[in-house]
Amino acid sequence: PFDVLVVGGGPAGAAAAIYTARKGIRTGVAAERFGGQVLDTMAIENFISVPHTEGPRLAAQLEQHVREYEVDIMNLQRASRLIPAKVPGGLHEVQLENGASLKARTVILSTGARWRQMNVPGEDQYRNKGVAYCPHCDGPLFKGKRVAVIGGGNSGVEAAIDLAGIVAHVTLIEFDSELRADAVLQRKLATLPNVRIVTSALTTQVLGDGEKVNGLVYKDRNSDAVHEVQLEGVFVQIGLVPNTEWLHGAVALTPRGEIEVDHRGETSQPGVFAAGDATTVPYKQIVIAMGEGSKAGLSAFDYLIRTVPA
Ligand code: FAD
Repeated sequence: PFDVLVVGGGPAGAAAAIYTARKGIRTGVAAERFGGQVLDTMAIENFISVPHTEGPRLAAQLEQHVREYEVDIMNLQRASRLIPAKVPGGLHEVQLENGASLKARTVILSTGARWRQMNVPGEDQYRNKGVAYCPHCDGPLFKGKRVAVIGGGNSGVEAAIDLAGIVAHVTLIEFDSELRADAVLQRKLATLPNVRIVTSALTTQVLGDGEKVNGLVYKDRNSDAVHEVQLEGVFVQIGLVPNTEWLHGAVALTPRGEIEVDHRGETSQPGVFAAGDATTVPYKQIVIAMGEGSKAGLSAFDYLIRTVPA
């Protein structure tokens, strides 16, 4: 069995594996797609001390760094079930979709999250070419330009407030007849001169010139009238979904599916830790996922030196 089995190979999982491998303990990483969301990212300009890099490049460097150590990397492996140890110090079991099963004294869950998509024409085609999901990451790329934010919940309204300070103009598009964000955010939004709020609107298409985004089409749900907005960017803020469906019943999750962790990264199950976008830790970012992954790795090591194997 492994001393530490990391499930997920994004920034959080890679950091966890490096930290535990450096303690000289037997570490494995099972990942559906090593690199995680970083593989889907183009420009990265907030990875501190690296002013500019690109997603695929950072993903390759993550893997290269992990491979500096004796870590058993099991790529293209999807976990389907976690069976926590029945007794303190016992072995946890992770079952894989291919039928195999892995055992470990500690497990670090780092299966990340995925942005909910609109699933409209143009969204995929112009991803990273005007269609964006992360205002903290990509906001500055739209300095002085016009953007739309899709979604009037807390994350959409926060994004609109954030972007309004950078871009020329923000159109906030909400499907419902009213915004769902906290009142304090809505009040703040209403004071901003360069934001237009459109409610009861269904986004139907992202337009582009073949290279990049140049507009957006929405349908007024009251009148069925179709409108076109000219802009350079579309921020989709309709939800970040944690990849934790497979963990129901195994560890405590919030109603939104985030893994509940304490300040050491431990879950509701002793010896099972979690880090990164899959957890309750706020602000889903690469440096944060790496920090939390490192923390979970150190916590797993600390658990191992204090626990007598059953
Ligand atoms: P992830 O990167 O999501 O990795 C999860 C890992 O778990 C993957 O290996 C995945 O294959 C695996 N996995 C999932 N389910 C299973 C399963 N059942 N079994 C096994 N493995 C599984 N952040 C920034 O800081 N700066 C940026 O500029 C930036 N730009 C972004 C642009 C885009 C388009 C996107 C989508 C995200 C961006 N982010 C950015 C956010 C950043 O990528 C994430 O915060 C970060 O990758 C989270 O790391 P993680 O390790 O928690 O999860």
